[in-house]
Amino acid sequence: MYASHRYAVRVPGSESHAVVVGAGIGGLASALALRDAGWNVTVLERRASDSEAGSGISLWPNALRALAELGVDQAVLAGAALGGRSGVRTPAGAWIARTDIGGAIADRHGLPLVLIHRQRLVAALRERLGAERIRFETPVHGVEGSATDAVVTTTDGVLRADLVVAADGARSRLRRQLFPEHPGLRHAGYTTWRMVAPRTDGIEASETWGSNGRRFALLPLDEHRLYCYATANEDPGSAALDERDALRERFGSWHAPIPDLIDSLAPDAVIRSDVNELSAPLAVLHRDRTVLVGDAAHAMTPDLGQGGCQALEDAVTLGAVMRGDAPIGRALERYSAVRAPRGADLIRRSHAAGRIYQAPPWVARTVARAAGRLPPRLTVRALDPVLAWRPPQFGPSSSG
Ligand SMILES: Cc1cc2nc3c(=O)[nH]c(=O)nc-3n(C[C@H](O)[C@H](O)[C@H](O)COP(=O)(O)OP(=O)(O)OC[C@H]3O[C@@H](n4cnc5c(N)ncnc54)[C@H](O)[C@@H]3O)c2cc1C
Repeated sequence: MYASHRYAVRVPGSESHAVVVGAGIGGLASALALRDAGWNVTVLERRASDSEAGSGISLWPNALRALAELGVDQAVLAGAALGGRSGVRTPAGAWIARTDIGGAIADRHGLPLVLIHRQRLVAALRERLGAERIRFETPVHGVEGSATDAVVTTTDGVLRADLVVAADGARSRLRRQLFPEHPGLRHAGYTTWRMVAPRTDGIEASETWGSNGRRFALLPLDEHRLYCYATANEDPGSAALDERDALRERFGSWHAPIPDLIDSLAPDAVIRSDVNELSAPLAVLHRDRTVLVGDAAHAMTPDLGQGGCQALEDAVTLGAVMRGDAPIGRALERYSAVRAPRGADLIRRSHAAGRIYQAPPWVARTVARAAGRLPPRLTVRALDPVLAWRPPQFGPSSSG
């Protein structure tokens, strides 16, 4: 059946072999969850091992529960900053709202909102998985599947697998291949810049909101560093020769320390990304023996800080369905039945939040003021559908 391939490798040592495409948060976490469920796992990543982009990521209680299931929560918490008081400011520096959302989250969920450098999160996942399971600089060209197995084609040849996990990100090649009828990504109307900058004294966590969807966030990452992100309503594909100039042009007259902070950045310290989301949610997340996780499954705008958290939920759910006694096809149906509606819901919620944040300033500020007057516990309660997630458990296959 695969005679056209140069060779087909069945990795020895285990009955079931999964090939995971992509070593981002979703791929690494899925590999870990499958390994813990007794699978033999190989991760294929097109980039070099040391090329993880450097910025921050917020992890909410749902993600921390997933990380606990994966056995890396303590390693992550040890390197993370705890979310506490934060607020919204005008470009001149006046506070529109200030509230202790971080404290209210910890009270309600018994787990904090944390901020961590992505490299630390990825390092914790990689370390627990074992570096020998990851093949870097191995781009995957495609997958061919049937009801019983799948074959992944790479530049080095082909790998046969009982399961392929497509964790190849928002622009997923495998999603396009599996669901050619799906319309793919759409641009959400704005662009983001992310950077890690030196921390100066007296900085409180804040987001500053201006016009044209311009926001600039300052978030203490540790004693010495800030994680900052900025947004602006922009056409897709626009880029500056030096992104610091793009930031100066849009935020250079804003309150201290934003202008100085931009000046302090190294030329390559700014990561610019257009914001995209799936233009329509997928009704199922698997086809034959290939399953989508993370941004490949449900790329969403970053407005709720949930894309990575959802990738972790996916991974833990995949591990849980594979741990049961169900045949693989049935297990994938269970995964899709749980994760497709969850992904669709988060795409919708993130999109709705983004519509407010990127709206004209008077709309955004009215919402911020109103939210700032609410007791934080009420705001946090409204997030229950997102944050109250718990790792699922699946009964015997006969119970459905
Ligand atoms: C501005 C911004 C802020 C964000 N903030 C947060 C936040 O605070 N909290 C949060 O939870 N989420 C946040 N997110 C979302 C989060 O970054 C993503 O949801 C998450 O990184 C998705 O992980 P992933 O593993 O699915 O995909 P990716 O991180 O995109 O990883 C995909 C991997 O697959 C590899 N790959 C792709 N194609 C191939 C191929 N053909 N062969 C081999 N390898 C391949 C890529 O090189 C990459 O390493 C934010 C996103 C943005 C843009």
